[in-house]
Amino acid sequence: MGGVKDYMNGKVAANREQIEYHVEKILQLIGEDPGREGLLETPARVTRMYEEIFGGYSVDPREALGVTFDESHEELVIVKDIVYYSQCEHHMAPFFGKVHIGYIPSGRIAGLSKLARLVEAVSRRLQVQERITAQIADIMTEVLNPHGVMVVVEGEHLCMCARGVKKPGSKTVTMATRGTFREDAAARAEFLALIKKNRRRGFAPFMYTAKSPSGTVK
Ligand SMILES: [Zn+2]
Repeated sequence: MGGVKDYMNGKVAANREQIEYHVEKILQLIGEDPGREGLLETPARVTRMYEEIFGGYSVDPREALGVTFDESHEELVIVKDIVYYSQCEHHMAPFFGKVHIGYIPSGRIAGLSKLARLVEAVSRRLQVQERITAQIADIMTEVLNPHGVMVVVEGEHLCMCARGVKKPGSKTVTMATRGTFREDAAARAEFLALIKKNRRRGFAPFMYTAKSPSGTVK
């Protein structure tokens, strides 16, 4: 089962020497000495990090969902607390947080771990949080054709915390709804209630299946 490391940016690998060269130039241009001991390996480290944090470019997010399955389950499925790390396209500064996905299948489901892969594929790029949210909802809709999809993304943006308005700890929450979640306020409320339940720290995604729209949580 693949982890984050499977998505590596091949262009970064192919352009390694040039990227290292330019990182070294930036170090000089901000007034640093790229020759001092602590910085000697920095251009190479930054480049290796780019391979990983921009790994999303190496995959078509539609394919991240992998093989889908025929399944008669047509009740709400939620995978919550999927941790993501992304880079703000305005500042190339990190933003990160959690993604919660709920969908009501109409005959096709995706493997649960594949939803986390979709999040990786979409977030490991230069992004804005709003677009991550919409893209996850749109790709779920396109690939699985469910009755409805709802995506909530929470994010902390270092470009907001560390510069400009300097509001440490403030969270941005974005939402996207497709299909039944658009019209059905009760479905939206149920989803929001379920993602708030048993909140805790951690990296493991949670999964709930509701037996009925208001139903039992397994
Ligand atoms: Zn920014």
